[in-house]
Amino acid sequence: MDQSRIRNFCIIAHIDHGKSTLADRLLEATGTLTSREMQAQVLDSMDLERERGITIKSHAIRMPYTAPDGEKYVLNLIDTPGHVDFTYEVSRALNACEGAILVVDAAQGIEAQTISNLYLAIGQDLEIIPVLNKVDLPSAQPELVAQSITDLIGGDPDDVLHVSAKTGVGVDKVLERIVERVPPPTGDPKAPLQALIFDSTFDTYRGSVVYVRVKEGTLRKGDAIEFMATHARYNAEEIGHLKLKMAPVQELGPGEVGYVIGSVKDVADTRVGDTVTHQRRGASEQLPGYRDVKPMVFSGIYPTDSNDFEDLRAALEKLQLNDAALTYEPETSAALGFGFRVGFLGMLHMEVVQERLDREFGLDIVTTMPNVRYTVELTDDNHTEVENPSDMPDPGSIKEIREPYVKAEIITPTEYVGALMGLCQDRRGTYVTQEYLTTDRVNLKYELPLAEIVFDFYDKLKSLSRGYASFDYEFIEERASKLVKLDVMLNGDTVDALSTIVHREKAYDMGRKLSQKLRELIPRQLFDVAIQAALGNKVIARETVKALRKDVTAKCYGGDISRKRKLLEKQKEGKKRMKQVGAVEVPQEAFLAVLSME
Ligand code: GDP
Ligand code: MG
Repeated sequence: MDQSRIRNFCIIAHIDHGKSTLADRLLEATGTLTSREMQAQVLDSMDLERERGITIKSHAIRMPYTAPDGEKYVLNLIDTPGHVDFTYEVSRALNACEGAILVVDAAQGIEAQTISNLYLAIGQDLEIIPVLNKVDLPSAQPELVAQSITDLIGGDPDDVLHVSAKTGVGVDKVLERIVERVPPPTGDPKAPLQALIFDSTFDTYRGSVVYVRVKEGTLRKGDAIEFMATHARYNAEEIGHLKLKMAPVQELGPGEVGYVIGSVKDVADTRVGDTVTHQRRGASEQLPGYRDVKPMVFSGIYPTDSNDFEDLRAALEKLQLNDAALTYEPETSAALGFGFRVGFLGMLHMEVVQERLDREFGLDIVTTMPNVRYTVELTDDNHTEVENPSDMPDPGSIKEIREPYVKAEIITPTEYVGALMGLCQDRRGTYVTQEYLTTDRVNLKYELPLAEIVFDFYDKLKSLSRGYASFDYEFIEERASKLVKLDVMLNGDTVDALSTIVHREKAYDMGRKLSQKLRELIPRQLFDVAIQAALGNKVIARETVKALRKDVTAKCYGGDISRKRKLLEKQKEGKKRMKQVGAVEVPQEAFLAVLSME
């Protein structure tokens, strides 16, 4: 295929700015899909994605395009996941492209993910095509927003395309601009093969379906191939183009985007970011940028009914087939019995997995408080990684505890800056800088411990800014912090699943609030339940759930729709999930008590 006729691009945007809608319009305008085939947002294929209007897994689609001058092109649209948890995957998808359409909602303006995605795209040297979307909205401020975009990326505000993905206005111009501005791919068809894996899915019958962008060389049907990072070897039994369905072809040359199927039974072999090459006369080097993605957030997942342990294992195994970033290991909790310590890329990923376990597998699960991974330097000069707070070594043997830190960007109208700085300060944040995007919008930069933002930071940020602030973050490094393990005892027994790691200065306050919250959450029983919070052997707070009498009133719960509340609501749905901890009946909410503390 003539490379000068290929354009590989992606669409980047803040959530809800219209990326999926614009993708639909492009498919329609190029005749890749007829309006009849058109189902709103075809690219968001997973049910969960559709419901939430977010793209979790990226996909690609090949569109034939005839320019107004009659010249024919092939446009490959590579869809990128739209959430901060998947930054690495986004960066690999971008690496498969030469250009990016930067979509900005003309009424909302630039938001946190606009900027974080833009930086990623610039980092990959992509040609950026700015597009103002939703110009049909009466509240649109195209001139102002166009100006703030060109302030960021340079260029002339008059050059920014005005589009309504809803009505279709301006969509043709987007296609023309792609052909004009996005550079065609380069690459030598005779060079050793280097094809970038930017995504993969799993098919029960055919194994892994690997999505690739050929950078150098030519991949032919039947070739003996190797995945360079994992050294896994297979035959390229089928290769093809990604139309709405997979369309087999005989070869994929440099610059082309397509799929490879090779009876790959283990998804762990097909890592996003890895390079596919030939077994014989293969490339000597992998394409740059490959990273072994490590989970950042961990939580215990236990079956409510211990008989469901094997079902839970089978479900996690299945989920992992489609989701190589998901990790799990069996663990035992004195309180909860047999379960798994599950690792996630971030909070959204965690929520998605919990929801799929519930929805697709019908499992009743109890989840524990999410936590980050700690690196602990021991006094004997060894070090250990702690993914479960209850595994934290004895304080006497600890020299230093390090925790992950992130760089956060918060974009907010100026009036909320004070409140949001207060929030960051409260979460042990270090102020870095602030930059004005327009006269009334600020990009506020902080460094924060990941542990302080994993659960309710986003909800707090939204409520403090009446929904106007947006937020994105990126892992930077591990830093030493003064951390301690806070234990909870019920009637004198430490409940391992309730242990958390907190900053020393917050421990007392936290212990008090946590015990108060647990007193509210643990139902009254036939005997008094003593709740104690302790640091080592030292009890720092105590509450009692009084024994049951006749006048018990039902608890009522509020209807807040924030993410943390939704998580809690989720846990309350269906059967009342109770775990027997010693003699005490403990509801699921109690294991997430920290989430519902004010
Ligand atoms: P994504 O999160 O970036 O993929 O955004 P979507 O494509 O899902 O769009 C978010 C919302 O904005 C949906 O309700 C769309 O119908 C709406 N939307 C998208 N483009 C336009 C547009 O040009 N005009 C208007 N009025 N609404 C739009
Ligand atoms: Mg979308």
